[in-house]
Amino acid sequence: MSFASQGFCPEIVRAVAECGYEKMTPVQRRAIPAARKGRDILANAQTGTGKTAAFALPILQQLADSPKTTRKFNCRALVLAPTRELAAQIGANAAAYAKYLDLSIATIYGGVKMASQTKALQQGVDLLIATPGRLLEHIAEGNIAMGSVEHVVLDEADRMLDMGFAGELKRLFSLVPAQRQTMLFSATYPPAMKQLCKQSLSNPVEVAV
Ligand code: AMP
Repeated sequence: MSFASQGFCPEIVRAVAECGYEKMTPVQRRAIPAARKGRDILANAQTGTGKTAAFALPILQQLADSPKTTRKFNCRALVLAPTRELAAQIGANAAAYAKYLDLSIATIYGGVKMASQTKALQQGVDLLIATPGRLLEHIAEGNIAMGSVEHVVLDEADRMLDMGFAGELKRLFSLVPAQRQTMLFSATYPPAMKQLCKQSLSNPVEVAV
């Protein structure tokens, strides 16, 4: 099955082709049609399966379908990742997929100066990729608010729990609107994941690869 068959706009189809992707991977074949319909997703997928495109492409398409609604100090889609390395990698992939779209993308993580990230957040971003702790710091400083978030992704959710982010995730889910699309990707399902799923997902489509 090709990416073009999923109703993606020519700008996305072209960018994906330039990444060298010809066919969808199994997680993409299962997750993309459901995500395109706005469904929540619970996916059991490891790194290397193509999971980034599985969540990023449907979100980019939905953002592109209603452009220029991003408000200052707000974001429309939020991807949470456990580490700065993963956040940076998701950010780089998303930028490649969005190469021909007029969307703003920002990536924020700890270990670097807040100030270097503040301006981009205050201008408003379409797609924000963040580690949970640094995102909460920016929220506390008033640099970004969660009231306009329409899509949330938890990537490597099990690693976020392992790293002790359960409290941060709970707080973030108390701030995003109840009416939203949520996709959770995890390689394993420790007992604590049940609580996180309950907190975050609504009638999800389950995808296992
Ligand atoms: P991920 O699991 O998202 O980290 O992706 C693993 C690798 O597969 C990355 O280098 C992607 O660029 C690549 N990739 C993702 N989707 C496809 C696809 N449909 N065809 C070929 N490569 C892909």
